[in-house]
Amino acid sequence: MTSDRAPGFSTRAIHVGSEPDPATGAVIPPIYQTSTFAQDGVGGLRTGLGVGYEYSRSGNPTRTAFERAFAAVESAGGEPTRALAFASGLAAEDAVIRTLTRPGDHAVLPGDAYGGTYRLFARVAEPWGVASTTAAGGGPDAVRAALQPGRTRLVWVETPTNPLLGITDVAAVAEVAHEAGALLVVDNTFATPYLQNPLELGADVVVHSTTKYVGGHSDVVGGALVTRAPEAADAVRDPYSEEPLADRLAWHQNAMGAVAGPFDAWLTLRGLKTLAVRMERHSASAARVAEFLLGHDAVSEVLYPGLPEHPGHEVAARQMRLGGGMVSFRLRRGREAALKACAGTTVFTLAESLGGIESLIEHPGAMTHASVAGSPLEVPDDLVRLSVGLEDVEDLLADLDAALAAASA
Ligand SMILES: *Cc1c(COP(=O)(O)O)cnc(C)c1O
Repeated sequence: MTSDRAPGFSTRAIHVGSEPDPATGAVIPPIYQTSTFAQDGVGGLRTGLGVGYEYSRSGNPTRTAFERAFAAVESAGGEPTRALAFASGLAAEDAVIRTLTRPGDHAVLPGDAYGGTYRLFARVAEPWGVASTTAAGGGPDAVRAALQPGRTRLVWVETPTNPLLGITDVAAVAEVAHEAGALLVVDNTFATPYLQNPLELGADVVVHSTTKYVGGHSDVVGGALVTRAPEAADAVRDPYSEEPLADRLAWHQNAMGAVAGPFDAWLTLRGLKTLAVRMERHSASAARVAEFLLGHDAVSEVLYPGLPEHPGHEVAARQMRLGGGMVSFRLRRGREAALKACAGTTVFTLAESLGGIESLIEHPGAMTHASVAGSPLEVPDDLVRLSVGLEDVEDLLADLDAALAAASA
């Protein structure tokens, strides 16, 4: 790239980390399916790719290719970023918690979030001595009330939330967290780096389940973290060591070992290259689906941040490029109707997960969010969640129309 123009999102996604292989000219980074690397004398690492490799937990060229591309798309307002790839979204979250907290510390969690995130804090971190409080609604006032200054190390935000599609003003919460000396972590899985860049809004660490839109084809499980690189002007420091946070997270990635394997990193990088075009289509189709549901008699409420009726619409319009591909809705006739709607589609597949090319439908109360029943994160039992895929939208609308007719009969 020789022009002065700063390359756009897709140009970065397609080219950064995917420079032709210096040995063979392969235009796509090979899957370096190897556990170890020969050394030319003790400590003599081969540097044909620019950096030396010694062992694939510590570093693998295919994983590096993905990490470089992902760092290049999760922007921090022009400051350099560092990305780290993990075996799953939850493995990435675990690395954040264990880097940023010690026994006796405290975290503030959102009142609506991925159930597994809540479970990780409440059932894994809590018994090890890291307490947490849920901030109902997740907005700046609720976060301020839940903060314990001097003890709270991190504030966790998910926006849009899973499964209620709630929107949190990231910049406002960043200010509240920073005033109290806490760091802000944002789960950007639903929005993806194409729709929203939390580091630009003041977040310190961004977490992704790349299993979802980034991989995008429902064929790989993975996670990633992004933070400002150590050389960034306002690089964040690790609260316990004063070292750059990016270095501490990378140290934990290797020390704890839950890294992405070469093939998983390769699939995720392939997905990332088409993220922008997929998110445009996911969002356009989801907007059509939300409009359709809004006009349907069987539906009592539609949750989609792209709708002007959504209480978070104004904030979403400010911090997100488009509305995204997730739509949730509630059935007037309750739980039985919701279960029937989930069982009644033929194009939408009844399954957990989201963000793939194919449309999925699920009942969060009995499926993805069953583990938070009885907790502050319990979801309504008349709720249905859709991951709107890339099929022809007319087929999706006809499928939902038929399923809702069967659910109301
Ligand atoms: C799926 C998901 C996770 C967890 O990621 P895994 O890859 O399943 O471990 C975290 N956050 C959100 C918002 C998710 O949808």
